[in-house]
Amino acid sequence: MAATLDDYEVIATIGTGSYGTCKKIRRKKDGKIMVWKEMEYGSMSENEKQMLVSEVNLLRELRHQHIVRYHDRIIDRNKTIIYIIMEYCQGGDLASIIARHRKDGTHVPEDFAWKILIQTTLALKECHRRKNGKAVLHRDLKPANVFLDMDSNVKLGDFGLARVLHHETSFAQTYVGTPYYMSPELVNNMSYNEKSDIWALGCMLYELCALTPPFTASNQSELNRKIRIGDFPRLPPQYSMELDMMIRKLIQVEVAKRPSIGSVLADALIQSKMKILN
Ligand code: ADP
Ligand code: MG
Repeated sequence: MAATLDDYEVIATIGTGSYGTCKKIRRKKDGKIMVWKEMEYGSMSENEKQMLVSEVNLLRELRHQHIVRYHDRIIDRNKTIIYIIMEYCQGGDLASIIARHRKDGTHVPEDFAWKILIQTTLALKECHRRKNGKAVLHRDLKPANVFLDMDSNVKLGDFGLARVLHHETSFAQTYVGTPYYMSPELVNNMSYNEKSDIWALGCMLYELCALTPPFTASNQSELNRKIRIGDFPRLPPQYSMELDMMIRKLIQVEVAKRPSIGSVLADALIQSKMKILN
């Protein structure tokens, strides 16, 4: 039987994002803590609604230890709200961790950075695994979409919904904030591919350690220029040369030289870190 709103009890509002509000909820039958995302679909066109439905169905198929687990969806036709029910990530997101370290003037431990790199790569591998011949690209890899569970393990979230809700007409619309992680191929108006997720992964790791994105600018054209050149400062000195070099491999302007998920995971250093950290 389909779930109804009555099966859950709202505990608290976690936050309001660009597309709706995220609430902490309790499933009445077993007391399990989860979250739901409330999204208003009344103002969407039929086509957008259809995309939202197929995107949510796709999310339901993604089951992986490093991907936020989607449990269910409830549609309130009177209020035209869709509730997307998913796993609660107690550890918050990487954006808050970055913000806290920036404020305190401290840095995340190097091992934490490696762990985030490995586990996010594993999550992306699952997405890129062809589903019916079509890879699921994340397209919105950023610290705010990488969550941590109780044990500080990565849970990648917010797939595709950004894309649905931004109509995917132009890439400018795909980005809400400043597109610091936009890859050179996107800057050059080429299409998004698996390697664009790798670029964003490198940028995110860089920001996690340096507490600032690799490329910053006060306007879009200056940012585009820097991204096309691809030069950025070394990580702060407390981080090893190995980590700096790994991130440099990911943030590589030439798509052909940028590694695939497979070659990142096959890297000898990544392999040895996986044994220690996972
Ligand atoms: P946006 O990503 O546009 O900022 P969201 O609706 O995704 O907005 O998130 C709103 C808030 O809820 C953020 O603080 C986010 O960290 C938090 N949040 C989203 N999903 C989860 C989750 N599965 N577990 C815990 N917190 C979450
Ligand atoms: Mg989000």
